[in-house]
Amino acid sequence: MVKESKNFIEIIIDQDLEQGFDPADLCFRFPPEPNGYLHVGHVKAIVLNFELAKKYQAKINLRFDDTNPENEDQKYIDAIKENISWLGYSWDKECYASDYFQQLYDWSVQLISEDKAYVDSQSSEEIAKQKGTPTEPGKNSPYRDRPTHESLSIFNDMKNGKSSPGQHVLRAKVDMSSPNMLMRDPVIYRVLNASHPRTKTDWVIFPMYDWTHGESDYIEQVSHSLCTLEFKPHRDLYDWFLDQVVDPKKIRPKQREFARLNLSHTITSKRKLLFLVESKIVEGWDDPRMPTISGLKRRGYTPEALKNFVKSAGVAKRDNIIEMSLLEFCVREDLNKKCNRMMVVQEPVKITITNLEDNHKEILVVENNPEDPSAGSREMLFTKTILIERSDFMINPPKKFFRLSVGNEVRLKGAYIIKANEVLLDENQAVAEILCTYDPKSKSGSGSEESKRKVKGTLHWVSSEKNTKVTIREYDRLFAHPSPGQFPTDKLQSILNKDSMSVHAGYAELALSKSKAGDSFQFQRKGYYIADKDSSEELLVFNKTVSLRDNWKNKHK
Ligand code: ATP
Ligand code: MG
Repeated sequence: MVKESKNFIEIIIDQDLEQGFDPADLCFRFPPEPNGYLHVGHVKAIVLNFELAKKYQAKINLRFDDTNPENEDQKYIDAIKENISWLGYSWDKECYASDYFQQLYDWSVQLISEDKAYVDSQSSEEIAKQKGTPTEPGKNSPYRDRPTHESLSIFNDMKNGKSSPGQHVLRAKVDMSSPNMLMRDPVIYRVLNASHPRTKTDWVIFPMYDWTHGESDYIEQVSHSLCTLEFKPHRDLYDWFLDQVVDPKKIRPKQREFARLNLSHTITSKRKLLFLVESKIVEGWDDPRMPTISGLKRRGYTPEALKNFVKSAGVAKRDNIIEMSLLEFCVREDLNKKCNRMMVVQEPVKITITNLEDNHKEILVVENNPEDPSAGSREMLFTKTILIERSDFMINPPKKFFRLSVGNEVRLKGAYIIKANEVLLDENQAVAEILCTYDPKSKSGSGSEESKRKVKGTLHWVSSEKNTKVTIREYDRLFAHPSPGQFPTDKLQSILNKDSMSVHAGYAELALSKSKAGDSFQFQRKGYYIADKDSSEELLVFNKTVSLRDNWKNKHK
């Protein structure tokens, strides 16, 4: 599944090494903005950077790009760190762009002094109007030739809280007629009335992303700064900013771009995910339907499954949408190896085994995981009355119905072969009880000829006399549309999958009652489920991770 060939980033790095770049100078970073929880798209960037650091035995920093205090919060910083650790990665240094505010300020003063930056006192609307279009050059601001000492003095006032937001901005003096619109004198500082999660009110001027990012890479001596494709046009600016400060004796960071990971039926934009949270469409950032790392974890995804998924999706140079079914395949594959099997009946119907004594109580030893002999076995209680799924019995079965019907035999998983002889109906003509006989010689694993007898169907079951009642949350895709990302935020509500969650009661074998939040199981013939943090001593709650087979396509033709 996982491709072992080199990705194009590794090819670039190898070329640099061949050309004499010292491997000891390799350094990477993962630079999230702490304005929301990380999502599955970020997993791709995390895996890419951390695996490169591992492969080349290089350093890697976790850097918070915290330059927009209005949207940022300590709770996001904490969640991001927890998520990356959960994925199994550790970073060399924990860095914050805000730690470089003084250095960035000093460099800005230097730019002004060198006539490479100026304070513009126009409104943002006026500045936008002068930007021009991709085919038409922009117009110079009337403040472009403002004397250096004046810009220096106003910039100092801005820093000291003497100007209000929007009154002045600092712009780099690059080129108002550049074919790259981003080079047309970009704003590099603005005044904001916001308390920053870390610097609080020490700073009221905040550097813009482009100005901050490359310089932060340089300060940290990051060698290869990997970002998503939308930053490709920013590369000229990244380089221009570096040109202004780089010491030729030091490492000059190199920006390279790879394709974002987009996943079908969900969104990978923190802003839109925040909308889902704030409008209470989901129950929070870690709602099991969210594509956030926290949501996926709570849904039962494992770090291995997520890593395998992004590795299988590959590192591409062009944007594409990966099918959710690939993600589901990866988690199924991992859980199949790891999870113990359990029997849980959701919509029960009662079976009475008429050739058993009323108080029959037999302990059966059942294998925990056929994929993993070291997983051992557990005990299951077999009694005269048991429960099976209502859908596993039919009064008038069609031809290829291999489950239970009158006159037919099925095997009870891990137990005996039973035969249905009679159905009792309730006043609404629904099946109330099925009278069966069992074949005492057919016990699973007993080695007898009868135990090897083949019957077409095998059903999961639990004792109706002693079982554990649980709550089961079945989940499905949050959006009915395959690419919700293309819709604006205010339209998201209209493309939700109305059946993305349903809550059911379940009757589980007793062994399940010992489980704790975070434990995953395969509920036989149903899918993979994880015990949720909402579980209490009295009632366990399980979230469905994924079904055993991909049945989305059949349901949504
Ligand atoms: P969002 O739009 O969700 O806020 P972002 O790019 O603004 O995403 P950042 O916190 O700035 O989020 O991202 C941190 C790093 O993760 C960046 O290097 C970014 O390029 C990368 N990244 C973000 N989204 C994806 C994605 N869908 N696929 C791959 N990498 C991504
Ligand atoms: Mg970003």
